[in-house]
Amino acid sequence: MVINPRSESKELKLYRMLNRRMDLSDEEVQYYWSLEKGFEGEIQFDAWLNDLPGSENWLILNDLLLEYNRTTFQIDSLLLADETLYFFEIKNFEGDFFIDENGRWLTLTKKEIKNPLLQLERSKSLLRQLLQSLGLKVAIKSKIIFINPHFQLYQAPLCQPIIFPTQLKRFSKQLPKPLMIKNQNIKFANQIAALHIEESPYKRLPKYTYDNIKKGISCGSCKSLNVIYKIDTLICINCAYKEEVETGVLRSIIEFKLLYPDNKITTTSIHEWCRIIESKKTIRRILSKHFTLVPQGRTSYYADPHFI
Ligand SMILES: [Zn+2]
Repeated sequence: MVINPRSESKELKLYRMLNRRMDLSDEEVQYYWSLEKGFEGEIQFDAWLNDLPGSENWLILNDLLLEYNRTTFQIDSLLLADETLYFFEIKNFEGDFFIDENGRWLTLTKKEIKNPLLQLERSKSLLRQLLQSLGLKVAIKSKIIFINPHFQLYQAPLCQPIIFPTQLKRFSKQLPKPLMIKNQNIKFANQIAALHIEESPYKRLPKYTYDNIKKGISCGSCKSLNVIYKIDTLICINCAYKEEVETGVLRSIIEFKLLYPDNKITTTSIHEWCRIIESKKTIRRILSKHFTLVPQGRTSYYADPHFI
């Protein structure tokens, strides 16, 4: 049973929008791709876990950001089975890596990467202390899961909490058999889920303003901004995808509010943001159908809906 299903982080959603609406630096693009790749690996891990027989009787928690002693730490996946809490750090590394004589993790081109074993040890220790401080007693087992079949690590020491792609099947047999879910375990899992903290992604984003961002409606399929508008229909020049104008405008409003949480939804602001719809009437019709007007004379605006 999945307590909190995984979805893209707000940071990843924002990076996707910024990537198509402005020029990112090489470093920013690299960081953006690492987010995409990480998320893709997590989805693959979830699918693998889901496919294991009886997995619905495990309690699974995803993407937790926890804090202990003013230090935050991220947990990709937790699995509560019987009296044991499995803590998984999922890595979607691809290509050849090696560990040198000083224990540093390097790519074949000698670029050093963060040592995942140290990261895991740090997070596990913080998790243990956090649970102890709350009087929650449970054994914790932690593993780094390398999910990508095209990953190879040379000179890996033995007996480390590492599961390579070729070992996943064998590892699944070591996990405790899923038993009936106990109420006390659900209570425990919910207690952990309640510790999750939200962190604002905005301070880590590339600098952007309203003016340096490309306006327009993105395609509902390929996400390109190369979209034109013809008689209530949006047509993508890139992939020929067609959709009703209303769907595209609503998606654009979500993007607008995510990128500019402080900006108000008005006919003028959304008309300018969508760019390709000439008639303000069309925009007003969609807004008044889906949003509640907050009347304030000339500065009237539409209230943010619950889904933003
Ligand atoms: Zn398209």
